[in-house]
Amino acid sequence: MLRKVVTWMGLLLPLLVHAGGTGTTADASMNAWRARAVTDPSGLIEDVRSQLDKGGTGLTTVRERSLLWGMGTAAINSNDDAALAEATLRLDGLGNASGDPLAQAAAGYLRARHDIANGIGEGLSQALQAAARVQGITDPQIVAWSRFQLCDAYTLDERAEKALPLCHQAEASYAALGDRWGMADAENDLGLALATLNRVSDAAAMYESSRRHFSLIGAHELVVMVGDNLSQMYLKLGRPHKALALSQTSLAQELASGRISDSLGSSTDIAQAEAALGQHKKAYALMQATVARARAAGMNGELSNLLEIESEMAEQVGELHQALADVREALRLNASTSTPALRAIETELEQRYAVREKELRIHDLERENRVNSLALKAAHAEAERRAEEGRRVVLLDRVTELSIAGLLLLATLLFLLLHNQHRHAAELRMQALCDPLTGIENRRAFLQRAEGLLAERRDPQRPQHVLMLIDFDYFKRINDSAGHQAGDRVLCVVADYLRARVDGHAHVARIGGEEFAVLCPQHGAEAGMRLAEALRAGVAALSPPMEGAQTRITVSIGVAMFDGEHCRDVSSWMRAADKALYSAKSHGRDRVVASTLVS
Ligand code: GH3
Ligand code: MG
Ligand code: MG
Repeated sequence: MLRKVVTWMGLLLPLLVHAGGTGTTADASMNAWRARAVTDPSGLIEDVRSQLDKGGTGLTTVRERSLLWGMGTAAINSNDDAALAEATLRLDGLGNASGDPLAQAAAGYLRARHDIANGIGEGLSQALQAAARVQGITDPQIVAWSRFQLCDAYTLDERAEKALPLCHQAEASYAALGDRWGMADAENDLGLALATLNRVSDAAAMYESSRRHFSLIGAHELVVMVGDNLSQMYLKLGRPHKALALSQTSLAQELASGRISDSLGSSTDIAQAEAALGQHKKAYALMQATVARARAAGMNGELSNLLEIESEMAEQVGELHQALADVREALRLNASTSTPALRAIETELEQRYAVREKELRIHDLERENRVNSLALKAAHAEAERRAEEGRRVVLLDRVTELSIAGLLLLATLLFLLLHNQHRHAAELRMQALCDPLTGIENRRAFLQRAEGLLAERRDPQRPQHVLMLIDFDYFKRINDSAGHQAGDRVLCVVADYLRARVDGHAHVARIGGEEFAVLCPQHGAEAGMRLAEALRAGVAALSPPMEGAQTRITVSIGVAMFDGEHCRDVSSWMRAADKALYSAKSHGRDRVVASTLVS
């Protein structure tokens, strides 16, 4: 997922206040400078360079340190590594020359921030070292600043649990100083940390508060930027209309100020909100345009994320070819970094695409069959008509005779062709419902069967239908110790056993990697539990199909009856069985648990 982290380091204030500015005017110009570090970082860097050049050796340490901090912050926001190196080296120099712990800490925090964002080295420990340098200073501005830097570092490193108390402290310190910018900044970080913990409503409330504070000091661009984070929470909270409005405002602002990278994020947010509103075609079209914009701007770093999202949307509108092509391209772009998640998506899409292709082929064959069967009927009718005609004519013309024979031959050939195609279509249909490894039914077939069963009118006098979900215990260990192929053999042996054991009374399907389902129509709770227990014990008694293996094969089983109340449809039924399975796992595995025992 593309996550837009609003990056600014609302500090500047303490350092500049130390430079001599006080009162509201100083605050206002300070906040304007803070905003520029976000909205016009390159301009700010240029400005600082020229002030440093002009000032020469006449600059005070405090002034120089403030300017360099501003430059460093802006450099981080604009990914300008050269400017960042310049700022940190000069801060180091300043720190060493005048023994200024603040300059040393500022350089440390800047490096920490850069390293965490880029996943290099020990960013957090650099931040902690920087904090240690200013630990003895009691000036409340410095204390608030340093707390906020730590909060920011932990938030960025997604150590949300650690970040939360630090960010709360930073917010309280800024509140005590009456520094709204600082509060808003800390609240945005709190929002990010809460979002990382998936506390979506709390995160939304924090972002809202942050926006309020930024708005009170007229930092409208920041109101909009925090709006981006808020928009993602609204999406998760199922409020796509609000998300859409926020992202549209952001996009307008970003396009106006030429922030291409941010604008790609907002376009993506808009597309996702549209998708959430069910406007899949519109969302897909916008995502295609967004990818095209990223390509044109040469934003290869963002392209792979965008392609992944485009792929999801392509899939939603049935463009499986495109979906697959997108994932492949994203994989290629990511080739150097780790991509098991993407590979899994690719494999899954490929499988789905293969099934879909088969379906289309079946559809085509069925259509051809219809055409052929009409032709066959027409040929029969024609032969009949001619035969009738022939019977009426006393002397059968030899030519007519031959043409009847020809037509009959054609009819026979068409019949054979039709028969063949029927067989082929049936074979393909079977393949689409069959698990290639174990030969038993697959998830698709299982779902069709379960839907079919629930669609039948239920006789309340007859016993309830029973569903079992079976998951192997510690299957990964089998793969790890005996190899994946041995794991495959175990799956086959157990599938054979289950099929033979329930023969005729129930249906076994492989519904996931090492997960099976057993569907027992009108089995009743007691018989269902007995059967589940027998299956569990039977599997545990199987000898493992690999040489010298000590491992016992065991499974956990979750059982759910279809009562028409707690379970109303296939998905709630499966959820109930899955909960029971989870409970079997957490109570030690190799056991059967009924969903009625799980709250
Ligand atoms: P748990 O008791 O918690 O279920 O432990 P587990 O190791 O079984 O954990 P989990 O269910 O999460 O992992 C299932 C493993 O099954 C992961 C995957 O590598 C393996 N697996 C999935 N499909 C196949 C397959 O087709 N063949 C083989 N050999 N392994 C598979
Ligand atoms: Mg398992
Ligand atoms: Mg599993």
